[in-house]
This record gives sequence, structure tokens and C-alpha cells, in this order.
Amino acid sequence: MSNKCNCNQTIPHVGCDVTNCKYNTNDCHCTAENISVHNSSAVTKGETYCSTFCPRGTC
Ligand code: SF4
Repeated sequence: MSNKCNCNQTIPHVGCDVTNCKYNTNDCHCTAENISVHNSSAVTKGETYCSTFCPRGTC
């Protein structure tokens, strides 16, 4: 699965406020080609996480 940043396009209808992620536009949109959200045993929102997250400057 490729998650290359295409900074001219955002994933429609996906908002994200993780502005420290390299895929984030800083106005709460995601530019990854796709995202994966994990934790199959989650029962609360806080237990889910975006595994596509990549801190700026580290990947
Ligand atoms: S990859 Fe995940 S954490 Fe990063 S901007 Fe997109 S939805 Fe947010």
C-alpha cells in the first residue's frame, strides 16, 4: 500500500487535526493516497489510531 504525499489532493470527506503528520495540510485535511485505521479491539474513539501517521521530518 502506498501512502505517498500528493499535496495537491486531499482525501474527500476526511478531516484530521493531526497537523504534525506529514500528510496533513495544516488546515485539517489529509493528503495521503489512502489511510489505514487500526485497533480491531477498540471500543472507544481514543483506542483507534491512524497507522498512516508519519511525523513531519521523520519519514
Ligand atoms: S495520514 Fe492519518 S494522521 Fe496523517 S493526516 Fe492523514 S488521517 Fe491524519
